[in-house]
Amino acid sequence: VSFNRRDFLKLTAASSAVVAVPARGRAGEAAVPDQGYGILVDTVACVGCRKCEWACNDVSGFPKKDLKDYDDLSVLEKPRRPTATANTVVNRFVDPANPGAGATWSAKVQCMHCLRPACVSACIVGALKREPSGAVVYDAGKCMGCRYCMVACPFQVPTYEYDNAFTPKVQKCSLCHERMAQGGQAPACVSICPREALTYGPRAELVDLAWARIHQTPGRYVEHVYGEHEVGGTAYLYLTPVPAQHAGLPVLGTRPLPEHTEPLQHAIFAGFLPPLALFGVLSMAMRSFKADDDDDREADS
Ligand code: SF4
Ligand code: SF4
Ligand code: SF4
Repeated sequence: VSFNRRDFLKLTAASSAVVAVPARGRAGEAAVPDQGYGILVDTVACVGCRKCEWACNDVSGFPKKDLKDYDDLSVLEKPRRPTATANTVVNRFVDPANPGAGATWSAKVQCMHCLRPACVSACIVGALKREPSGAVVYDAGKCMGCRYCMVACPFQVPTYEYDNAFTPKVQKCSLCHERMAQGGQAPACVSICPREALTYGPRAELVDLAWARIHQTPGRYVEHVYGEHEVGGTAYLYLTPVPAQHAGLPVLGTRPLPEHTEPLQHAIFAGFLPPLALFGVLSMAMRSFKADDDDDREADS
């Protein structure tokens, strides 16, 4: 399927109609959409330039870097994960059915901002919470460093500042919550993306936009909006040209993880069992969660 610049512009115009004025102009509005805001990642439009990595570094309070420090695209050759000094990283992927054809796409990875976040559920001191805006935010002042959130996250996102001996913190993407709150600005990664591979807006409208792109450009994407239903839904959504697991996105079921873990956690707290038990419970729950959902998918297919 060919997709030229004119098609792209037409589609972008259609997209704008769906996601009207994503952030600007919404500051001060009392109403927040039911599902909050989110970001749609179009992995076909992404060219893997890593500018979003730089913009994220710039707003995340990490040691400052120059944009040219991100010119090295050789790092895309191996899959990477967010680190304690990089809340988002871009990975390159190929068509597994035709790896020698030379076609590549790129996808940035970061916290998915789950609608029912397992990290929030696992944090026993309330250091993580989901804001009405859709952002899952971290409060270092409340964190006791137990790292249950790292065990609970089905996307293996939160990282920990092991090199910081005195004030170590958990790190993860904030959905640029403070930018949103202060001035209704779009997240930094969205603002800088030169290919409009990232779209910010009310999550429900992004789901509609994603399906509109799928239907308007048959063959360009698989018919699946990743994050629409995974683990109960996520604020970050992905369009991919091949099944999402080949773009580095884990195969997960639709049930929110807290539905699996919370009854066990409550039992542990009621019995005053040592906190270490929670690590075991969360790990076991994750394994059974994946197994259950694999069974569900097989039953559905
Ligand atoms: S800035 Fe946009 S095009 Fe460049 S790597 Fe990030 S998402 Fe892709
Ligand atoms: S992706 Fe992980 S860290 Fe982010 S909200 Fe979901 S459970 Fe929490
Ligand atoms: S939303 Fe903000 S914190 Fe999250 S990846 Fe983009 S720039 Fe980084």
